[in-house]
Amino acid sequence: MPAAKAPAAPTKSLSEPQKALRKLGLVRDIDLALHLPLRYEDETRITKLRDARGGETVQVEGVVTDNHVAFRPRRQLVVTIDDGTDTCQLRFFNFYPSQQKALAVGTRIVARGEARGGLVGWQMVHPTTRAAGAPLPEALTPVYPTVAALPQAYLRKAVLSGLSRADLSETLPPGFAQRLGLDPRWTLERTLHFLHHPQPDTALSDLEDRSHPAWQRLKAEELLAQQLSQLESKRERDRLQAPALPARPGGLHEQLLKALPFQLTAAQRRVSEEIAADLARDVPMHRLLQGDVGSGKTVVAALAATIAIDAGWQCALMAPTEILAEQHFRKLIGWLEPLLAPRGLGVAWLTGSQKKKERGEMLARIASGQAALVVGTHAVIQDQVQFQKLALAIIDEQHRFGVEQRLALRSKMTAGGSHPPAEPAPAKAGGGDPSTYAGREPHLVMMSATPIPRTLAMSYYADLDVSTIDELPPGRTPIVTKLVADTRRDEVVERIRSQLAQGRQVYWVCPLIEESEALDLTNATATHEQLSKALPGVMVGLLHSRMPVAEKKAVMDLFTGGQMGVLVSTTVIEVGVDVPNASLMVIEHAERFGLSQLHQLRGRVGRGAAASACVLLYAAGENGRLGETARARLKAMAETADGFEIARRDLEIRGPGEFLGARQSGAPLLRFADLVMDVQLLQAARTLAPEMLDRHPEDAERHTARWLGGKSDYLKA
Ligand code: ADP
Ligand code: MG
Repeated sequence: MPAAKAPAAPTKSLSEPQKALRKLGLVRDIDLALHLPLRYEDETRITKLRDARGGETVQVEGVVTDNHVAFRPRRQLVVTIDDGTDTCQLRFFNFYPSQQKALAVGTRIVARGEARGGLVGWQMVHPTTRAAGAPLPEALTPVYPTVAALPQAYLRKAVLSGLSRADLSETLPPGFAQRLGLDPRWTLERTLHFLHHPQPDTALSDLEDRSHPAWQRLKAEELLAQQLSQLESKRERDRLQAPALPARPGGLHEQLLKALPFQLTAAQRRVSEEIAADLARDVPMHRLLQGDVGSGKTVVAALAATIAIDAGWQCALMAPTEILAEQHFRKLIGWLEPLLAPRGLGVAWLTGSQKKKERGEMLARIASGQAALVVGTHAVIQDQVQFQKLALAIIDEQHRFGVEQRLALRSKMTAGGSHPPAEPAPAKAGGGDPSTYAGREPHLVMMSATPIPRTLAMSYYADLDVSTIDELPPGRTPIVTKLVADTRRDEVVERIRSQLAQGRQVYWVCPLIEESEALDLTNATATHEQLSKALPGVMVGLLHSRMPVAEKKAVMDLFTGGQMGVLVSTTVIEVGVDVPNASLMVIEHAERFGLSQLHQLRGRVGRGAAASACVLLYAAGENGRLGETARARLKAMAETADGFEIARRDLEIRGPGEFLGARQSGAPLLRFADLVMDVQLLQAARTLAPEMLDRHPEDAERHTARWLGGKSDYLKA
């Protein structure tokens, strides 16, 4: 049974620290017990000044021999103490009269702070002080992660009382601790008591490097909770019903394959088969389709769509930006219209910027089922959009969408029309009424060009099935990546000239300035002017996120059509743009971008047969050098073109938060386990989770409730 919730008091009556506790998610006793110290302070000992070392934090005890307020260089209280071996000056820049009194000459005090050795003897700036005489603590003092409104002392009390009340009984079935590679003597109860009150003989280094058996126990439990909750949501989904969509021999699917101007790669064929196998089942598919930029995910999506359409259903494809949605629309119309038109079906298109009349027509076609495929932006999930019979939803660049948006797309099926599909799928025992949509879910494919490192797929994405396109279409020449100092801009312009002379096109991406979109713009505008001047007779375009959609579209059309030689843009081109004739990508202030983002940008070139290059322009800092992380990132980019390798390094540099993007906003990130360090534990937890759920369902439930409380729902979308 999970620990009892704290009484739900109305927020108004909560004190500031209580509110802060809630904000930190510290509500139940167990939440408090699992809030672990960031570090420890050793207050168990008094150091003699004679033995102190400069720079060390020490606790000293002595008698105050002097107490005065000095005014130079600024007003401060200066108190001198003597411990019999040496003296030490304590300096306070902010002080209260009460403090001044408490440190009166002749008082015996304990002071704790960083001892600095100077010419004038020992000093401590802003030490903590108290009257001597109280017994010293016997354990190390935990220091908890906290926020301003929550004083350390208050939090410490709350944590310790939570710890004393929380139910810490064993949730691991017999033998599981050993199978997780743990020392079974370190139960959760012992672990938590130890980490909150470590004995003074514990080496601080053991506690800090997280290799201690207590830490192993915590990490393993946390990973197991994550695996259990995802497995549960996967099983819940398996109990839902979706229309079964078997591919028909000689059907649309085969017709599209024949009509394509290229052969699928082996990887594309494999993932298409994986998707087709899922579609044929009457259980909703939840599949992540990942493949490096340019690996050809769109055609795989189109093939999946043809299967749904052939079975008499509708398919929706949602993309995060208008540019991308439109590009998909064009491509898909080209591939599919000739096949759909003879059947009286077509492809519809929905965006926010659409004219009212056009939109009305599209909505009508969608509602009637004439639009067999609907391509669009977020507009696809708005209320007015009513599908007649949606069976397959495809989301491109899935990490750019939030949980709610994905849920909204899934709900389009149930909220859709009341017309039964031509051939309803047979109902499962206890399933919904086969003649209506009740209880049905569409199949879902989520596409991502940011490959998810294996460990991440095994942890946060464990509830999804993953298909990976691990091969690029043939004939692509590898992109050469060069790091060039910003001071050598002229040479880069030379390079652009030579590409243009060969009939090629060039992207120039301007830096992202997080704090200010306006600054982004100034920079892009200036670069645009500069390049226009430097390249007379060449059409240089400018694209940024603040432009009206129609204008963006006009610029993009000129670039796609080949009339425009150079496209200067802010990062709006980041996702999915496909112009095979572009052969040079210049990224200005590359040091400001993340690795995955750089990789995506670089993937805009090298899409045709021409040799392509990516120039990473970097500006050194004021000291003439590049920061260490920035250097590591840029070096990684120059060294490898493999999206998975880059994603792995990115995970190492930045941690999982950024990868997860909107998917997990509000979801519990792993607090203790580390996906780079703890792969073995992760693997063990993954193996044990199904067994625990099958054979020890009550333990499993207690375990996830303890670790995830009410938070596990976030993981299910
Ligand atoms: P991404 O996976 O980044 O979305 P796209 O689907 O945009 O990639 O495909 C990139 C380009 O490669 C497109 O021009 C597409 O038509 C082309 N393409 C896809 N598959 C193949 C293939 N098997 N052979 C040749 N070209 C392909
Ligand atoms: Mg794409």
